[in-house]
Amino acid sequence: MLSKEVLELSKQHSVIRDIFEFGMQRAREVGAENVFDFSIGNPSVPAPKEVDETARRLLDELDPVDVHGYTSNAGILEVREAIANSLNRRFHTNYTAANIFMTIGAAAALGICFKSLVDGPDDEVITFAPYFPEYQVYAEGAGCKLIVIPADTSSFQINFEELEKTISKNTKAVLINSPNNPSGVVYSEETIKKLAALLEKKQKEYGHSIYIITDEPYREIVYDGFEVPYVPHYYKNTLVGYSFSKSLSIPGERVGYIVAPTEAEDFENLLPVFIASGRLLSYVSVPTLYQKVVGECVDLTSDLSIYQKNKDLFYNALIDMGYECVEPGGAFYLFPKALEEDANAFCERAKKYDLLIVPGDSFGCPGHVRISYCVPTERIEKALPLFKKLMDEYK
Ligand code: PLP
Repeated sequence: MLSKEVLELSKQHSVIRDIFEFGMQRAREVGAENVFDFSIGNPSVPAPKEVDETARRLLDELDPVDVHGYTSNAGILEVREAIANSLNRRFHTNYTAANIFMTIGAAAALGICFKSLVDGPDDEVITFAPYFPEYQVYAEGAGCKLIVIPADTSSFQINFEELEKTISKNTKAVLINSPNNPSGVVYSEETIKKLAALLEKKQKEYGHSIYIITDEPYREIVYDGFEVPYVPHYYKNTLVGYSFSKSLSIPGERVGYIVAPTEAEDFENLLPVFIASGRLLSYVSVPTLYQKVVGECVDLTSDLSIYQKNKDLFYNALIDMGYECVEPGGAFYLFPKALEEDANAFCERAKKYDLLIVPGDSFGCPGHVRISYCVPTERIEKALPLFKKLMDEYK
């Protein structure tokens, strides 16, 4: 007999996946060039050529055990050193390999952070709408509650009044994601400072640590005029979850890491606890070949300028047409207000024009829609007149 809990989860459809499948079906019917799929967040720019060259060279040069074998639990020492040095150059930190724990992408980084911090079903991780829907699944996997603070839809910064009311003795961590999926918003320095001050106060009040887990797969995709504050500079008990999925366009290779800052209260035990959590969640060894590849390509990114171009084009055009949208500072998503209260109904109307966008309900923020613009620019250019027709229907 199967687990009732997991059977239940298997019945919950991913709305994004459903829309993506619909798009493929429509492409067979009317031709791929007539379907404007903005549903999924797969990087659209290729990995830098150095990534493939390094992978080929390592396969040719190294002993098979060194590219296909298991690695130590925390990851390959030289790779962790290369990542620590790269962070030191960028953020003026003093990390060594002891501060870096390799993970199977940001997904495993989050699962491991949750598992490492929570003690049981009463323990809570707080996050903010709109949020990446898989957070619910990671929390369930770690056996804790995910509490969602409603969005401040005027700015998509943190709703501090609600946060302060919600933090309790059971709060073990606050999870943030900036640049954000789905809003594209970057948390300002002011927001991070306010969050740090509030959590310092609450840690004292409850007499235990409350960590910030900062989920940063989009850290490198930041637009002109925006800056992503480095959270450990503002708050000691911070765990940074990173992924090379978007910055190097290698989501299928599954490489990321957690930064465990020396200043964190539980630093001595963090890496051993991450290893134990990884074992509990059956995450054994991060793909060896691509650990080595990212170790050598740690300071590179894909050509991310395409996302800036797409964002400028799409955002400016939608605003000109009269859509309401907070300007994204990074990532590759727009999160405008739907033109009717029910975002699901709005997305159904958009489908008439073969515009495939995702209702904000899945991200804990009804009344908005996510538009993913990691697509060829021409697709946006062809879709804009259809967004205009859609707007005209509501006038
Ligand atoms: N966190 C956010 C906000 C994401 O958007 C994603 C993937 O899209 C992930 C985590 C998972 O990333 P990874 O592919 O590195 O596991």
